Amino acid sequence: MSESLSGGRNWRRALVTGGAGFVGSHLCGRLLDAGTEVVCLDNLATGARGNVVALEREPGFRFVHADATDPAALRGLPGRFDLVLHFACPASPADYLRLPLETLDVGSTGTRNALERAHADGARFLLASTSEVYGDPLEHPQRESYWGNVNPVGPRSVYDESKRFAEALTTAHRQVHGTDTAIVRIFNTYGPRMRTGDGRAVPTFIAQALDGVPLTVAGDGGQTRCLTYVDDTVEGVLALAASRETGPMNIGGGDEITMLELARRIIDLTGSGSRVRFVERPVDDPGRRRPDTTLARERLGWRPRTDWTTGLEHTIGWFAHAVAA
Ligand code: NAD
Repeated sequence: MSESLSGGRNWRRALVTGGAGFVGSHLCGRLLDAGTEVVCLDNLATGARGNVVALEREPGFRFVHADATDPAALRGLPGRFDLVLHFACPASPADYLRLPLETLDVGSTGTRNALERAHADGARFLLASTSEVYGDPLEHPQRESYWGNVNPVGPRSVYDESKRFAEALTTAHRQVHGTDTAIVRIFNTYGPRMRTGDGRAVPTFIAQALDGVPLTVAGDGGQTRCLTYVDDTVEGVLALAASRETGPMNIGGGDEITMLELARRIIDLTGSGSRVRFVERPVDDPGRRRPDTTLARERLGWRPRTDWTTGLEHTIGWFAHAVAA
């Protein structure tokens, strides 16, 4: 029996660009569980076929190895979609610094192609945007009305500006063509299928703790993040998709913790003998990041439900298994 989705709206057929990535693969799985047919389009730039290998055994799932920046690839997908989730984009700093032009291309041309396909099919379109559009914020917590503080030529700009442009494009498409769009600003999400070595704190710390080597904390470790477990992020994304809201809407949150506290928690939860080693802090690394999720709570009835100790335990369990396999 299929499990109904957040917002009570079940989709017949969804296209998920970037569906073989970390968040995208969880989204594909959740949609399939609810009885939605899923086409996952991914060029595997930063994702992995292994993330969807279990889904490929299900009849309602199809993997298409293609690039979202290729208009013919999106146009040529057979059938009609009633939901298009545009998640394709290198998302970790290590990835977008390695793929700066590709990151800008998928935010611009890729978003345009996904919008065109949604419009042609009369589908609901949802853009995966990010808290990074707020840059190094001067307002805390960040509400959707805050315009952000982004360095347009800083090293992180390829990602931040790619998403800011994608938001502008989505808004313009709605205005010009009446496309049924929504924008979700996702805050730091963690969970199984993140990659070690992708530069993000949770997988880096877990891998270091499991290897028994020092956990490398940037700066003095006082910078904070709110971490959201991936199942909660997916529920928020699907609740927004099911609603009539256009966004932008923040999805994220949970307890705000410092990077040093996070490292210490992971050392405790893994039972590791590792210590903390302080390293140089990257340029433009935001000092503080906390979403205001009032809008998601009021309009969607969404809030994160997984406490981060539980979420970290699931994630550590998955990494321990992946390392052993
Ligand atoms: P990820 O790197 O694991 O997934 C991105 C996927 O997109 C990968 O499978 C990659 O191969 C694919 N991709 C990249 N460029 C492509 C292209 N041109 N054509 C087709 N596929 C392409 O990253 P993630 O963490 O799963 O992030 C997914 C989305 O969510 C991204 O758009 C990201 O900006 C957004 N997001 C994620 C977070 C987070 O904390 N993980 C936070 C905010 C926003």
